Amino acid sequence: MPTRFRHSNTARIDDFIAAVAEINNTLRYLAETGCRGFDCSEESLKTISNWGRKAGAPPETLSKIRDDLGDCRRCKLSGSRNNIVFGSGDPHARLVFVGEGPGYEEDQKGEPFVGAAGQLLTKIIQAINYSREQVYIGNIIKCRPPGNRNPMPDEITACAPFLKRQIAAIKPDFICALGTFAARTLLETNEPISKLRGSFHQYMGIRVLPTYHPAFLLRNPEKKRDVWEDMKMLMKALGRSIS
Ligand code: URA
Repeated sequence: MPTRFRHSNTARIDDFIAAVAEINNTLRYLAETGCRGFDCSEESLKTISNWGRKAGAPPETLSKIRDDLGDCRRCKLSGSRNNIVFGSGDPHARLVFVGEGPGYEEDQKGEPFVGAAGQLLTKIIQAINYSREQVYIGNIIKCRPPGNRNPMPDEITACAPFLKRQIAAIKPDFICALGTFAARTLLETNEPISKLRGSFHQYMGIRVLPTYHPAFLLRNPEKKRDVWEDMKMLMKALGRSIS
């Protein structure tokens, strides 16, 4: 994780002031050199977003990543799973939720977050004025560990590159990491979720907001208040109003 997001509030404020000054200088320079506005049309943004890509390399799609995953046998979880849970939702979502891994219901249906924790996640998504179809929902690992045990390092090593490619293809503005496991894996840290939640971090240049896992909320309903605070931060950052 970039150190920029680990240090103190004072240093963050200094960074912010420096960033504002830099933007100010850039805008002044542009104004002095005759710039009178920016072309933010969809067409221009699409053209610009292609500039960083290697010539000839088509942008990666979720269906290409799903094809590459195939009938995955890259780790031992393939022996006990019923279905691969690839992920679901809008392939161009601004917001991606990342959980730990499929449970019983998800393994049966091949869909993420469809059990009891999933129903709570659906309510959380609706509370921030989205539908499940408007966001993308994935997991660190795509096959259910037997007995819902924690994923093992070799299983994450085999599986996480696919989630990374999915996120790179979706290019969301924000990731909400659900629970200790997702947050620690994405942010490569051992910090507890209680410390990670409540502020933005970074993963592949994308802002990550860790919060408590819905399954944890089912066991600890008093923590819903903290999650709502996190969701309000997320909505503000997304520029969405609170209903
Ligand atoms: N818990 C998770 O972390 N992911 C799911 O898909 C379901 C439950």
